[in-house]
Amino acid sequence: MSIKSKIDCPECNMPIYFESNLLLTGQSFSCSNPNCDVSIALTATDKDVVSDAFNKFEQIRESTTSQTGHHDS
Ligand SMILES: [Zn+2]
Repeated sequence: MSIKSKIDCPECNMPIYFESNLLLTGQSFSCSNPNCDVSIALTATDKDVVSDAFNKFEQIRESTTSQTGHHDS
């Protein structure tokens, strides 16, 4: 499942759109401002930004897990 989300660019405050599952695989996502070269990734130096976004992921993921986590197998 892909969860689309966004964070505000720390440089220009434009939104940076990303997908949680791709971010988890190490994909980086660039700022939507074409004049800004900021990108986010798990290995980015902007760990505070990423970890802040990840706190939201965890909340989303916990809610989705609780809905789908009752397999009988
Ligand atoms: Zn930017």
